[in-house]
Amino acid sequence: MTVTQVDLSSLYDSNIYFVDGGRKTLLVDTGTGFSPEPSIGSIRKLLNGRKLDYLVLTHRHFDHVGGMARIIKEFSPGKVMAGERDAQPLRDGDSEATMGTAFGGRIERTAVEGLKDGDVIDLGGMVLRVIETPGHTVGSICLYDEEGKALFTGDLFFMNGVGNTTDSTGDAETLKASLRKLSGYDIIGLYPGHGPYLVRDGYQQLRGAMRMMGA
Ligand SMILES: [Zn+2]
Repeated sequence: MTVTQVDLSSLYDSNIYFVDGGRKTLLVDTGTGFSPEPSIGSIRKLLNGRKLDYLVLTHRHFDHVGGMARIIKEFSPGKVMAGERDAQPLRDGDSEATMGTAFGGRIERTAVEGLKDGDVIDLGGMVLRVIETPGHTVGSICLYDEEGKALFTGDLFFMNGVGNTTDSTGDAETLKASLRKLSGYDIIGLYPGHGPYLVRDGYQQLRGAMRMMGA
């Protein structure tokens, strides 16, 4: 599968990744949606007339999900999914719990399917596996490409950094446990929710994050 970073339009936007599995397509996160172009144009170009099969949200935070309504309207993804415990506030349209209010935006009630540990998203031959990695938020997930050994981390950890635990559902000990859980995975590519991504040596970043947190 190939991963392309979608163009962002605001400093506050999370990264948005377009994943092309050959037969099926998937988008990871949406940014704030405050100024939807050039992201929408970039996604349209990457789809190149094909359908968007899946939209997966790594967690509930507005900088990752605020653009959801516009992307759904524009591309009608077959399924919108998030870790079960972060899917709920999105279904509820809860602008407080999703930090919409803090960002000066709001979340509409949205049909979001809940994902759990071990779930597999089939991209038509190649698969992404769901790993529950709470700590930054209670329903945070990572996605792992077993064949390409690439990991999408949301706000769990980044290049030279670890996600905060300031969310009301966040917890540092839980985050440490999530980092330890990932240490069993062979991680080459690393696609975090903010900042640059890596196409090799992702595992070293996990080790760095674990050192930073004393995990
Ligand atoms: Zn976050």
